[in-house]
Amino acid sequence: MLESGLPREAGRGQSRLRRGSHLNGVDCMPVEQPDALTTKVLDRLGRPLHDLRISVTDRCNFRCVYCMPKEVFGPGYAFLPRPELLSFDEIERLVRVFTRLGVRKVRLTGGEPLLRPRIEDLIERLASVPGVDDLTMTTNGSLLARKAERLKKAGLNRVTVSLDSLDDDVFTAMNDVDFPVERVLEGIRAAANVGLTPVKINMVVKRGVNEDSVLPMARAFKDSGHIVRFIEYMDVGTTNGWRLDDVVPAAELVRRIRAEMPIEPADSNYLGEVANRYRYEDGQGEIGFIASVTQPFCADCTRARLSADGRLFTCLFAVKGHDCRQYVRDGMTDDDILEALRGIWGRRGDRYSELRSARTEGLQKVEMHFIGG
Ligand code: SAM
Repeated sequence: MLESGLPREAGRGQSRLRRGSHLNGVDCMPVEQPDALTTKVLDRLGRPLHDLRISVTDRCNFRCVYCMPKEVFGPGYAFLPRPELLSFDEIERLVRVFTRLGVRKVRLTGGEPLLRPRIEDLIERLASVPGVDDLTMTTNGSLLARKAERLKKAGLNRVTVSLDSLDDDVFTAMNDVDFPVERVLEGIRAAANVGLTPVKINMVVKRGVNEDSVLPMARAFKDSGHIVRFIEYMDVGTTNGWRLDDVVPAAELVRRIRAEMPIEPADSNYLGEVANRYRYEDGQGEIGFIASVTQPFCADCTRARLSADGRLFTCLFAVKGHDCRQYVRDGMTDDDILEALRGIWGRRGDRYSELRSARTEGLQKVEMHFIGG
């Protein structure tokens, strides 16, 4: 077990030697295991830091109406200029420090992470960081058929692919760039073929838009080995015009699916898992529900997010990030960065989804493509 109390995957944990780090005010002797370097950091609500989501670009080739609507993110929109993005060196360095605070799971996201040139080079670097036990990516799948093999070879463990409907009319209306379902399915097949498994398939459900696609999605992937997760439409950012009426509660989806295909709850895989897991009673696989609006899971949230320009957000709904790019560009040492990050996490008290109310409606929240989904 890690000091955080979270399980560690067997067979990882390469050894490395470090000289006299200064951790928790105590000079440590050289150590061989990354876990021995890890110092427990709990936030104000007693939550450890375990997952890091890194947005590697704020650009995307889709214009999903609920995430990057065309009216806002049109041709004139000013995305981050290249020098503003964290470089691969900077990302790797920060990840090495984050693992010393307990991060074991790293997810690359965006924007669309496969748009970042030479992303496989970053994957290769992160896969070799001691302590990174699970390296994964969330993608819209548009470039996956072409890149799956390279990603796997570089050391990516698995992928989550977003797909909001199997019906081309519904899907193209949602991605708003006429991208066909079949090409995403090709990407999913390619990922499965090279072993980026289990492939998870994320479907955001919006009332009156794609709710009729829920049952066909569940049917299509039952017994496929892939895990479909239905996500409640969330009030991230301020550009999507979110209304509570647009949310289809997960409990309603469970009822609808259960009426046709019996499912039963399954245990979480680990503390802080975002999806409520269910298994088909006939043994033909599992599905999940991410109910962040109707059943917030802030109490178990162990995730931090690094935006494309290196700002650290301790909540998906945060208003303000901490400038980690400055840390690496200002010449701070790794130990100084470690202490700064420890301080940020130690002061964390975010639980936006639990507090969501009329009072939080007008907040200037950051956009999902920027902070990383
Ligand atoms: N481009 C990649 C993709 O499409 O998977 C990664 C970034 S995207 C922001 C990550 C995930 O966030 C996607 O599954 C997307 O559907 C989801 N997402 C975006 N806006 C959302 C919202 N308002 N509510 C719920 N999920 C949302």
